[in-house]
Amino acid sequence: DAKESGKGRYSFSSEEIERRNHEVLDMHIKLKKALEKNEFKLYLQPQISYKQGIPTLVGAEALIRWETSEGIMFTPDKFIPISENNGMIIPIGEWILDEILHIHQQLKDNNILIKLAINISTKQLEVCSFFSKIEEVMTLAAAQELMLEMEITESFLLDDIHGARKTIQEIQRYGIKIALDDFGTGFSSLNYLTRLPIDYLKIDKSFIDDIASDEQKSIVPYIISMAQALNIQTIAEGIETQEQMQKLADYGCSEMQGYYWGKPMPLETFISFAQQFKESVKNK
Ligand code: C2E
Ligand code: MG
Ligand code: MG
Ligand code: MG
Repeated sequence: DAKESGKGRYSFSSEEIERRNHEVLDMHIKLKKALEKNEFKLYLQPQISYKQGIPTLVGAEALIRWETSEGIMFTPDKFIPISENNGMIIPIGEWILDEILHIHQQLKDNNILIKLAINISTKQLEVCSFFSKIEEVMTLAAAQELMLEMEITESFLLDDIHGARKTIQEIQRYGIKIALDDFGTGFSSLNYLTRLPIDYLKIDKSFIDDIASDEQKSIVPYIISMAQALNIQTIAEGIETQEQMQKLADYGCSEMQGYYWGKPMPLETFISFAQQFKESVKNK
């Protein structure tokens, strides 16, 4: 440990710091190049509404992937937190908004009209350019029936509830819906839920995991009734089994998302998925 290593620790620390600085700079350059070389991809995961035993495909969440020219695929946990720290999340976030327009157009060309959800980092909500980008994209999308939803996290709401309220309303002015992602993992103060105009609550996977095995202890039915009382829709994430799906349907959860219905997939795969989904429901 640093104290015990005495004099040597200084040289060690500075080396360590230098190595880290180098890594940080290196990642910044790599992410910039990745953006230039168009190495990011948005995968789509289906969102299903399930009523009276009939599932309907109502939306998709766009989840970013980084596929390097060497064919290595990185999931967002490997580069989104870093990009939030080095500022690259701003241009990446703008790319996502441009890309969502392309995706929407291609879905529309295939007669697939669903809402699209994107994840927004708190860092993005703190810069003005993000709002100009929203304005630009929503103006382009105006005639195109784009139904856009932005998933934000509780970390954004905590510091300044008035500021958060204003920001949310500013986004909603463009007809964009706001979902609170990973609900239940943070502070989840009921107080802010009643004071913020949130459209959707996304119930975190950790609450879904034991919903079927440990029903007595599950708070999911209470989250859903509370949301209903506040006129907020619910989406459950991370549904993997038929049992979990059935429980959520019984509780009156508005929408569901998880490997049980479909994994995140490239656009082309999603288009076939959506077409097959329609057919399979029709034939039931
Ligand atoms: P999230 O928004 O909560 O996304 C849900 C994560 O759970 C996704 O991981 C998804 O692939 C995974 N998942 C979905 N259904 C299941 C399931 O049934 N079982 C299991 N085990 N996992 C499931 P992914 O794609 O690795 O994304 C991780 C996180 O990275 C996301 O969490 C989100 O916070 C962030 N993220 C992803 N894309 C973006 C993006 O475009 N921008 C920003 N700012 N963050 C993003
Ligand atoms: Mg999300
Ligand atoms: Mg989530
Ligand atoms: Mg999550």
